[in-house]
Order: sequence, then structure tokens, then C-alpha cells
Amino acid sequence: MKDVQPRPKLSIVIPVYNEEENVDPLFEEITQALRYYEHPYEIIFVDDGSTDRTPQMLHQICQRDPRVKSVIFRSNFGQTAALSAGFDLALGDLVVSMDGDRQNDPADILMLLGILNQGYDLVCGWRRKRKDAFLSRKLPSVIANRLIALVTGVFVHDYGCTLKAYKREIIKNIKLYGEMHRFIPAYASWIGAKVTEVEVNHRPREAGASKYSILRIFKVILDLITVKFLCDYSTSPIYFFGTFGMILTGSGFLTGLITLIEKYYHGVWVHKNPLILLAILLVILGVQFIMIGLLAEILIRTYHESQNKKTYLVKEIIGQTRIQFLP
Ligand code: UDP
Ligand code: MG
Repeated sequence: MKDVQPRPKLSIVIPVYNEEENVDPLFEEITQALRYYEHPYEIIFVDDGSTDRTPQMLHQICQRDPRVKSVIFRSNFGQTAALSAGFDLALGDLVVSMDGDRQNDPADILMLLGILNQGYDLVCGWRRKRKDAFLSRKLPSVIANRLIALVTGVFVHDYGCTLKAYKREIIKNIKLYGEMHRFIPAYASWIGAKVTEVEVNHRPREAGASKYSILRIFKVILDLITVKFLCDYSTSPIYFFGTFGMILTGSGFLTGLITLIEKYYHGVWVHKNPLILLAILLVILGVQFIMIGLLAEILIRTYHESQNKKTYLVKEIIGQTRIQFLP
């Protein structure tokens, strides 16, 4: 039975880190929730270097049910890496990600898929009635979500909710680094995906401990800067650095001009005028910025050309592109 499996239509990806008490009940809940799902599906648990009995539990589950696969990391690489590993392995046309701590409700999976089928590429869960501590969780989350929405221009209420449903081609085209799984809706929207959100159930954590502290807000801000930069300038970094460079160099020349005016009209010689230092500083900084931009341009070319990466994403090609001409 184990060898011949139909190709799954749906893949459920679940990162788990020290969730020994949660994986078994979660697996039961998912099978229960999907018992009337009409297509084959797979569940992919990614163990993110747990130090408790999570890997053993996963071994047992995989033996019990051939639809379950598990990736066991050698070390704790983080939730984003775990999600990436799951996405890489996913075979389904539809992919759902969710937390492994049972705070997301498997009963929502079919509802998300229903909305996805209405013509969306990504459906984000919105934990409107979030069951977490107010000061350490909910408040920072509200601020972070507003900030991300404002900077990225993609308005989703709950970037941090792992419960999301994706079309395969969207998630396979997004590469995640650091803790950037939170920015998936923004990335997806930038590559042309149709994104929407829906309220989902959220439950208090019954077992195990949360893995994050309030310090994550700093990481979110730094990630946000990276994401914004990559989105706007990843194929033309010279525009970013070059603009700064030109403004600085220009200001430097202007300041230099002022020192000249002060010399000819007010008799203030340059060795007695501190403005000249500012002028020199600005010009040097400006030239440096332009140089950094040029270096970044070289890097971007190496990045794209060495891996044969495209700077665009095609939805479909209409008509014949490889025409065989008669001799
Ligand atoms: N997680 C992970 N690696 C980590 C931290 C967390 O795989 O380094 C998993 C964790 O097991 C859980 C999910 O990511 O399934 C969300 O973590 P948590 O519940 O601690 O986050 P919170 O709900 O507090 O935002
Ligand atoms: Mg949680």
C-alpha cells in the first residue's frame, strides 16, 4: 500500500519545533478535518531540529499513514527554513501551511481551499480573535502588520498567521530567507498573485511553549527594509544607491560653491571656513554611494546569470514560439 500512492492534489506543510505533545493530536485533527476531501492529499511535517521526542513521534505517524512525510532538520534553522523545506517537497497543486502547535484550526483548511478555488492564488488566514497574550503578542503584531502593510502596499491584516493556502506555482517561485515567511503575501502580490484574506479560528496554546519573544519585532523591521529594497530595486540597485550618491555629490558641490562665494564676496578664505570640510565629506560620500551601486549591479548580474534566473515571471505563452520553417 505504501509504494503505490496517488499523486497528491493538496500538500499541508507544518513546521514543528519541540512540539512532542502536539504532533499526534494535530495529525488526528487534520485527518478528521479532511476525511471528506475528495482528492488525495499529503501532510509534510518539517522538524526544525527539535530536542524533544518530536522526531520519534513523526516516525511513528509516517509509519501509520503513508500520506504523511517528515523532514528532520539536523539543527534548528528557524520556522522560515522549515516552511521552505516543506514547500520544496510539496507535490500538490494546492499547498496549505499551518503551525504545528495546534493554535491554527485544521477545520479551516477546506474553507481556505474553497476561497482559493474562487480564483485566488493566495488566501491568508486572519486571526481576528487571537488567543495570545496582549502585550507580548497581540500589540506588537498589530503594529508590525500595519507597518508591513504601509511599506509594502499590500493590505493584509495578519501577516504573521501561518495558516495560508497557496497555488503551487506561487509558492514555488518565492525564495525565503531569514524570518521572511511573514512577508509571503507581499512577495506573492509583487509577482502578480491574486491575494485575499479570510478570518480563521485561533486557539490558545494547550501544550509546549511559544518559540518567540518580543525581540522579533526588531527582526521584522530589518526584514521589512530588506524586502522593500529587494522589491523596488533588486534588478536595478544603482537607481537606489545612485540617487543617494547624486544628491550627496550635488550637495557637496553646492557647499563648495558657497565657500567660493564667501571667499570672493566676504573675504573668508577656505582654510578659515569649516564648510569646506562638509563639502569634501559630501562629495566623497556621494562618490562612494555611486560606487556601491555599481558593485551591486555587478552582483545582481552574477546572481541572475550564474543561476539562469529570469527577471520576470510568465503567466502563459500564447501561440507557437518554436516554429519549424520548411527548407
Ligand atoms: N517553529 C519552528 N522553528 C522555530 C520556531 C518555531 O519550526 O525556530 C514552529 C513551532 O513549532 C510552531 C510554529 O513554528 O509550529 C509557530 O511557532 P510559535 O507557536 O512558537 O509562534 P507564535 O504562535 O507564538 O507566533
Ligand atoms: Mg503559536
